[in-house]
Amino acid sequence: MASLTPSAHRRQAAAVMSYIEQHRTDLVGLLSELIQLRSVFPPGEYDAIAHRMADELRESGARVELITAPRAEIEPRGLAYPRPNVVAAVEGSGDGPVLLVGTHMDVVAAGERSEWTHDPFGGVVENGRVWGRGACDAKNAMAAQVFAARALMDAGVHMRGTLLLIASVDDEGRFDRLKWPGMTYLAERGLREHGFPLPDMVINGEASGLASICGSFKGRLIMEIPVIGETAHAATTYGINAIHNAVKLVVALQRIQLKSHPLQGDETLNICAIRGAADRYGDIPPVCDVGVEIRVVPPYGTDRILREINGAIARLAAEDPAFQTGEFTIFSNRQPIEFDPASPLVTAIRASAALVGVNASFAGILGTGELQAFVARGIPGVTYGGGFIGRVHKPNEYIEVDELVRQTQIYALTALALCGEHAEGV
Ligand SMILES: [Zn+2]
Repeated sequence: MASLTPSAHRRQAAAVMSYIEQHRTDLVGLLSELIQLRSVFPPGEYDAIAHRMADELRESGARVELITAPRAEIEPRGLAYPRPNVVAAVEGSGDGPVLLVGTHMDVVAAGERSEWTHDPFGGVVENGRVWGRGACDAKNAMAAQVFAARALMDAGVHMRGTLLLIASVDDEGRFDRLKWPGMTYLAERGLREHGFPLPDMVINGEASGLASICGSFKGRLIMEIPVIGETAHAATTYGINAIHNAVKLVVALQRIQLKSHPLQGDETLNICAIRGAADRYGDIPPVCDVGVEIRVVPPYGTDRILREINGAIARLAAEDPAFQTGEFTIFSNRQPIEFDPASPLVTAIRASAALVGVNASFAGILGTGELQAFVARGIPGVTYGGGFIGRVHKPNEYIEVDELVRQTQIYALTALALCGEHAEGV
């Protein structure tokens, strides 16, 4: 399978890096223009940016399609049709892996203009930084996708695997049902129906900082527990006060021992809502819902926490036969995930980063984000991109030009390492 000598590989890597270095002005120019093409969600207006991105990728020699979920499944979510995802493939001979470098086209609103030092949609380039909404979440990754593909083409890299590039819609939707037309739809069936392969591994191009390859994700459980009482006149002793019992439950939940993980940090458990009231003062409240948000770490997962919660409820019921809860409503139940830090994907990114002078290590991150669409199918992935997560969704978002250049080089070098003709079987 390996058909290039190590020195030929080194030559290709050098050619890829120097192409991107030589085109840094064009790379910055593209990011600046993408920032000017507002794609704020809501509502998510993609027409201009999706067509621009598709044109850029086509010029890079990729096969490109705009793929929208069907109208009948978009409009009931209160979203406008169409919602075009940009999907591009740099295809090889087909006997190598499919690497997806994906990101999203939408951005959150700019907020208060007066808090910005630069026009949030100006794409201003100043003192080695590109400023604006989306500069590091995540239009930097869109520009990097284009120039990574161009660098591979210019260096004459023969691919045995496929580099799949996706700029998706609706990542900034707050709920899964609003995010669905993006990566989830593509992973479920959009890619397959349009003749694109599912990836074997994924880089989610979000701000992690180039020193952190994030492949270790907390799980989460978001749920509501109804505490059941019995109403009665408040001046009597015949009722069961659901709010009093909910307070006992809250105290018991707060006593649950939380675990921690070397990369992901501590588990968290927060009571986010206590909702209950009698119809009128003077009566005993018959029901009180307790809303809980829990983040869990491996190897424990959400099962352990659910067992702890059920144990706490059983103890309260044993102490007081009047203590009773109803069926839980579970809004989200995702297990924590830890991909192998020695996997070919992580190894290739780390080696590629080292080539451009970045010492990258395996790290944890709060959630899977857009990776969820793929990790739910058992496909390994990491979140990896330039920019600092503490600067996103805030005024004065920017990215360092040098960081953008290195991000682009690392994406291209990783694709070369995993999908190039010389690559060892992975
Ligand atoms: Zn993002």
